[in-house]
Amino acid sequence: MPAKILDGTAISRQILDELRAEVGEIVKKTGKAPGLVTILVGNNPASASYVASKVKTAESLGFHEVQINLPEETTEAELHALIEKYNEDDDVHGILVQLPLPKGINEKAIVNAIDPDKDVDGFHPLNLGKLLASGGKDGFVPCTPAGIKEILRRTGVNLDGAEVVVVGRSNIVGKPIAGLLAQKDDTANATVTITHTGTKDLAFHCRRADVLVVAAGVPGLVKPEWLKPGACVIDVGVNRIGMNEKTGKAILSGDVDFARAREIVGMITPVPGGVGPMTIAMLMKNTVRSAKRHLGLE
Ligand code: NAP
Repeated sequence: MPAKILDGTAISRQILDELRAEVGEIVKKTGKAPGLVTILVGNNPASASYVASKVKTAESLGFHEVQINLPEETTEAELHALIEKYNEDDDVHGILVQLPLPKGINEKAIVNAIDPDKDVDGFHPLNLGKLLASGGKDGFVPCTPAGIKEILRRTGVNLDGAEVVVVGRSNIVGKPIAGLLAQKDDTANATVTITHTGTKDLAFHCRRADVLVVAAGVPGLVKPEWLKPGACVIDVGVNRIGMNEKTGKAILSGDVDFARAREIVGMITPVPGGVGPMTIAMLMKNTVRSAKRHLGLE
């Protein structure tokens, strides 16, 4: 039987509907809407498209939304000054600086300059530390790992004692999802292995995964014969593998051969329409949570 498709678009719609209701309550109680500032520097088309989706979703939820587009030549000092301004602005509860930043701007310094209590991307070292210490309950969890965990939770995947293998160890996906799923609590408690380019036998690790999270950015990296029958596969990879001549849009693929994998595994996320929409939904969720904290509702 072909695998169940984990439809991130449908799950994210449910989350957005729940958030829309929460935003209504916040406005009713405080007269204020969650405030999100998005800052885009330069002309990277992929970044512009990601920011446009985030802004559109924020608007659809009734957020107070401030969108700032800065030229490529923006200096690090100018960006710092802007972040400082919004750190101090009580109507702003979330600040998002779209990465990557143009060469010449120290990304780490910029991420560190955002008030950790407004860091709705969850990239600040303080929030990453809170994630490791306590699963991020009192901080912000980065949106992609948070989205992966939410897909697993809403689908009823049992993580307790499960063998989870994560391919990739970036600070925005691989390490935080591994940290989250290894937490000792009743939403996680998995046995987690992190793999990367230094891993000697990637196939061996993938083969024993009950839950396989692949975030490498290499199309077709995980071969169908490496998959455990019945496993749950979360394909985070987004790879542009061509161009649709009719629509002019990029053709996207994940890191797993979806068509062949779905004949073997029990559940799988598609690309697009899997983890991507969940990432945006969790950004909105983080912003609503931040607004509630700042407005004294949590
Ligand atoms: P990244 O920073 O480039 O990290 C990639 C990781 O994969 C690295 O740890 C790398 O290992 C590992 N890797 C690469 N090739 C490998 C191989 N042949 N064997 C084993 N490990 C390998 O990427 P990222 O930011 O985590 O993103 C990963 C993918 O997810 C990309 O396609 C990105 O576009 C996508 N993504 C999607 C979303 C979404 O919302 N859907 C969000 C974020 C990212 P080393 O550490 O050894 O180099």
